[in-house]
Amino acid sequence: MTTVESARNSRRRFLKISVSSALGSVALAACSTLGLPKISKAQAAYEDRSTRREHCAGCIHFVAPHGCTVVAGDISPRGVCRYFSAKA
Ligand code: SF4
Repeated sequence: MTTVESARNSRRRFLKISVSSALGSVALAACSTLGLPKISKAQAAYEDRSTRREHCAGCIHFVAPHGCTVVAGDISPRGVCRYFSAKA
């Protein structure tokens, strides 16, 4: 594979991931706006103490001090789940 082909594949992969993340965020925002039930912590793979760079406090879904528009229950600002979406 040439360098140009590799760069195209990387860009294509990046765009696919970006679009699917954006669609996921829109779907989650729509769910919360429509008043649909929240997802359980288990379904969201929520961790009370993130070991990653991402934390609930930096997520667009976080509602201070201990809430979330997507995941049900008490949410720690230092937690994280699979629906993390960074604030812009
Ligand atoms: S990371 Fe998950 S639990 Fe934390 S605020 Fe975002 S969506 Fe809610």
